[in-house]
Amino acid sequence: MAQYDYDLFVLGAGSGGVRAARMAALSGARVAIAEEHRVGGTCVIRGCIPKKFMVYASEFSQVFKAARAYGWSLGEATFDWKRFLEAKDIEIARLSGVYVTNLRNAGADLVHARAELTDAHTVSLPAKGESFTAEKILIATGGWPTLPLGLPGIEHAITSNEAFHLEALPGRILIAGGGYIAVEFAGIFNGLGVETTLVYRGANILRGFDDDVRAHITGELERRGIKVILGGEHTSLEKTGTGIVSRLADGPEVESDVVMFATGRAPNTKGVGLEAAGVAVGERGAVVVDDYSRTNVANIWAVGDVTDRINLTPVAIREGSAFAETEFGGRPTRFDHRDVASAVFSQPPIGSVGLSEAAARHGGSKIDVYRSVFRPMKSTFYGGEERMLVKLVVDQETGRVLGCHIVGPDAPEMIQMAAIAVRAGITKAQWDETCAVHPTAAEELVTMREPSAPRGLAMAGSGA
Ligand code: NDP
Repeated sequence: MAQYDYDLFVLGAGSGGVRAARMAALSGARVAIAEEHRVGGTCVIRGCIPKKFMVYASEFSQVFKAARAYGWSLGEATFDWKRFLEAKDIEIARLSGVYVTNLRNAGADLVHARAELTDAHTVSLPAKGESFTAEKILIATGGWPTLPLGLPGIEHAITSNEAFHLEALPGRILIAGGGYIAVEFAGIFNGLGVETTLVYRGANILRGFDDDVRAHITGELERRGIKVILGGEHTSLEKTGTGIVSRLADGPEVESDVVMFATGRAPNTKGVGLEAAGVAVGERGAVVVDDYSRTNVANIWAVGDVTDRINLTPVAIREGSAFAETEFGGRPTRFDHRDVASAVFSQPPIGSVGLSEAAARHGGSKIDVYRSVFRPMKSTFYGGEERMLVKLVVDQETGRVLGCHIVGPDAPEMIQMAAIAVRAGITKAQWDETCAVHPTAAEELVTMREPSAPRGLAMAGSGA
């Protein structure tokens, strides 16, 4: 008789956990996976996927404007938030169902309950009064939005979790934060006709991104009608008869109908039983793991946002696969976190891979920067003022392209392709050997011949 009930017990059925559970089960292992919410995790249920549907919904306002300029006659366009939410929820339920089916088809047992560790080999399900033993355990419990709990009136604010289910579309929204979620939701609500204010505590939004990207996107958000307040630190929120008043240190008072805080996410480790199992966490509460996602406890691993490495769905999936490949496929595999591309689905969107100009300089490299700012062809047709930015950061000595950064329509699609080249370590000369695809915005990427002036001096614009 087997010593344990399962070969693998996974806590959390999000992107990382589901991938690992499926792969392990397909290899013949006896696998269970527990999920307290709906199967799919942040990405499917309250993140990437529903967010992207909201981005699609909100982009139509721009499309209608452009359509008129291109000769279309349209009646008055109206948007039905409730109808959109219903359709979105049906699609999310379908996708969650696909995850469930895939797990079942792989032969994994799915447990709909919160699971916690009671020791290094035992998982208990308090709501069901059951417990199971497992030889190996994978913690994939993800992350959860954090709020500055000491801020007076913070109970009046929502997070992105609630933004997916608002009863009605507000007339005015204030979004606090300057990261991915804040910038993406600012674009969504603005596109849906909501008067939108973005309040960020620092000097420039999207810390960690290339400085040209940060400056450029701020200008574009403002051009589209979002009010961006930089250096704005909340001192309190107050509910009044007409809305919620945000008070900012050294700043204006802003009244809105909804206040959304997008001020980061924390590893979801509460109630997981890490202490009971002896699993160590780091300063920010993330489970500490090595390159193979193994914790300090020999039979326990962790993948995805709970480890707070790079908090992106495809990274969690790759970490989950590497774990399953190593432990159940007999092929030691670790995921290399270098040059992971990412996209911000702001409007216009951003695609970025590799080093920013500042990071490359900070790392001691002598670099050349190739930068082009131009009006995308589609909008020049109607005299649109929006600008697109493409930028390459190139190592002077080796000629290697260290980073590629794009702001503008289809940037996320372009960066996926550029990431292959950056990841492969190609040089600017090889990049330039690639013939342009015309007429596209992406051709700017392979036609920038002269290095630009260092940042702060004149921005090079190539136009056509
Ligand atoms: P981020 O870490 O990206 O941004 C958090 C923002 O909140 C920062 O601007 C930060 O400012 C600010 N902030 C933090 N604490 C406070 C505070 N107490 N008061 C005011 N402002 C504060 O977190 P997000 O919540 O936007 O997203 C979480 C993660 O989810 C991202 O890092 C990303 O990995 C992932 N994600 C990815 C997406 C994608 O791939 N498109 C989409 C959405 C999320 P400062 O910079 O000064 O610290």
